[in-house]
Amino acid sequence: MSKPLMVDARAIRKSFGANEVLKGITLQVEQGQVLCLLGPSGSGKSTFLRCINHLETINGGRLYVDGELMGFKEKSDAIYEMKPTAIAKQRAEIGMVFQRFNLFPHLTALENIIEAPVGVKGVPKAEAIAKARELLDSVGLADKADSYPSQLSGGQQQRVAIARALAMEPKLMLFDEPTSALDPELVGDVLDVMRKLAKSGMTMIVVTHEMGFAREVADTVVFMDGGVVVESGSPTEVIENPQNPRTKAFLSSVL
Ligand code: ADP
Ligand code: MG
Repeated sequence: MSKPLMVDARAIRKSFGANEVLKGITLQVEQGQVLCLLGPSGSGKSTFLRCINHLETINGGRLYVDGELMGFKEKSDAIYEMKPTAIAKQRAEIGMVFQRFNLFPHLTALENIIEAPVGVKGVPKAEAIAKARELLDSVGLADKADSYPSQLSGGQQQRVAIARALAMEPKLMLFDEPTSALDPELVGDVLDVMRKLAKSGMTMIVVTHEMGFAREVADTVVFMDGGVVVESGSPTEVIENPQNPRTKAFLSSVL
């Protein structure tokens, strides 16, 4: 018996003007599973992630997160975009970590982490601070609570960004090339945090070029190119034994 789906994307289409970037993406992520999304630059990976939390409005298909239609209401076969406040509420349950650690520069690590729980969710400040300290500890930065982003390495900033996303207690975490902007020696610590998060049962979609991570942590690997899913399966199937020539060419360029 399969577990309930956390993400159910059915034939997702997205265009920018005349440029159709997503040409019918269908994929599913079960609760507690990790999907690694691979593909060359420009294939639509970031756009797809942004569609999941409705930072982009899809032009076709249906996107469900935890059984709920994202960003839309369905009424007798037609769908209507929801109000911004309702969208914000849905989005608050999805954590996102970008390539560029976009922390608030004028706030300390701790202040960055408590900002949304206090400001958006109304969590009492003392409670939010206690939780933030736990989270900083879990990402190996217990001693950096009072540091400003400029005083932290890229890897440390990215781990604060992960802690900040987790502070909202998301049911789904989206990572968009979280280690691509890091110096090589800082990548490992960030991947360790993500590995631990995966082990704790978090549902994750990770866009990455880190094949070792994908091989080890992913339940499913999806290779996309040109706005379509070219190949998907277990890491063994897709990374060790790719069938499609485009997957093979991509892997030989990153491995
Ligand atoms: P990837 O993350 O796989 O590199 P993206 O999703 O960033 O790919 O981009 C896919 C395509 O969509 C690219 O051709 C890009 O130029 C285009 N694109 C992305 N965002 C926008 C936007 N806001 N407006 C216009 N075109 C966009
Ligand atoms: Mg991208």
